[in-house]
Amino acid sequence: MESKMDKIISLCKRRGFIFPGSEIYGGLANSWDYGPVGVELKNNIKQLWWKRFVQSRDDIVGIDASLIMNPKVWEASGHLATFNDPLVECKKCHSRFREDQIDNSKPCPNCGAKESFTEAHMFNLMLKTFLGPAEEAANVVYFRPETAQAMFVDFKNVLQTTRKKLPFGIAQIGKAFRNEITPGNFIFRTREFEQMEIEYFIKPPKKDEGWQEVFEMWRKEMMEWMKEVGIETEKVHELDVEKEKLAHYSKRTIDFEYEFPFGTKELYGLAYRTDFDLKNHAKASGEDLSYVDPETNEKIIPHVIEPTWGVDRTVLAVLCAAYDDSNPERLVLKLPYKLAPYKVAVFPLLKNKPELVSKAKEIYSDLRKDLMTVWDDRGNVGKRYYSQDEIGTPFCVTVDFDSLEDNAVTVRDRDTMKQERIKISELKNYLNGKLNS
Ligand SMILES: [Zn+2]
Repeated sequence: MESKMDKIISLCKRRGFIFPGSEIYGGLANSWDYGPVGVELKNNIKQLWWKRFVQSRDDIVGIDASLIMNPKVWEASGHLATFNDPLVECKKCHSRFREDQIDNSKPCPNCGAKESFTEAHMFNLMLKTFLGPAEEAANVVYFRPETAQAMFVDFKNVLQTTRKKLPFGIAQIGKAFRNEITPGNFIFRTREFEQMEIEYFIKPPKKDEGWQEVFEMWRKEMMEWMKEVGIETEKVHELDVEKEKLAHYSKRTIDFEYEFPFGTKELYGLAYRTDFDLKNHAKASGEDLSYVDPETNEKIIPHVIEPTWGVDRTVLAVLCAAYDDSNPERLVLKLPYKLAPYKVAVFPLLKNKPELVSKAKEIYSDLRKDLMTVWDDRGNVGKRYYSQDEIGTPFCVTVDFDSLEDNAVTVRDRDTMKQERIKISELKNYLNGKLNS
């Protein structure tokens, strides 16, 4: 039997959400491309996030930094020294594995050879390239392994241009790259991925207190976000990362794990990074990255709480949550209206009746000025409902012969499958009312 994950992957391919990258050349190492409806879903997620956490808040501003930064950034951040995974290789088939993801005492999962693994050596996960025409050591640069560092490196410029007072945050959405030893599980773990991150700066806590409150605020914000995008919060588990397993910069980290069809895995993270990053960048760059407290005139290095969201993991969790095949007659993607690639589809009942087509085209052209609207005249109405359900379009509008007489159309609701007759003159208001409810 096909697993739920296989079904989702096949839906994504069939309807244009997500394709294997470079597919005509046999693909490339677990890379994936977002198709016409996938890019709409992904953009809707990013826009919703940006609106919620940047534009609607007084205390957060955004940036969009370069993917490739000065390599000194990664020296100061500790990534060059410590951003490693333990790598083992099978001596027989030369497959490579992360030591902590396999059982060393068992045969090679690829070729079955026994006791064939090499000693583990540390493998740096940063993706390396050369900047400029000469491929020499002096020109080695790295694609950023996280978006976070730009918020620290740009801290001084942001502070000077915005005059923000603590606490305040800097947000960014963008790509990051990690040379993962074993990518996998569709878009869950890929070497190129996108993050939505906030570095939220606070006054240095006195006696290790005073950061917990902000930490809790973000913990709630992250749960609220999951509700807004339709991720079932009962399938989300908070994991307090043990002291020994914390990243080199963190004092406390919570992983939000989600019950994906392939297992319960990390979806989001929330970390208290202390003043590790600003302090190190100040030291390494020689720049003053301190903040002057306007009340006391005291110079301080802010501490930081960091909530992180994976964009692709959000897409995946949203797809898993929305996927509903409980009715054997139809498959529905019950996406929240805000995230649906198209809000409404318009059909002429028959595509070979010019009077129906022209009336429907008129409605389509008018609606698409305000709403993401798609035209569909393939097959019969039943087939069109079926395909719109699969991409999660909340409403379908059909122009039939009665429409020519009564200037009304049939509007069908994705979730209830109920149909209503609505006057064309009231259609836009009706749809906007439903979509904003
Ligand atoms: Zn092997």
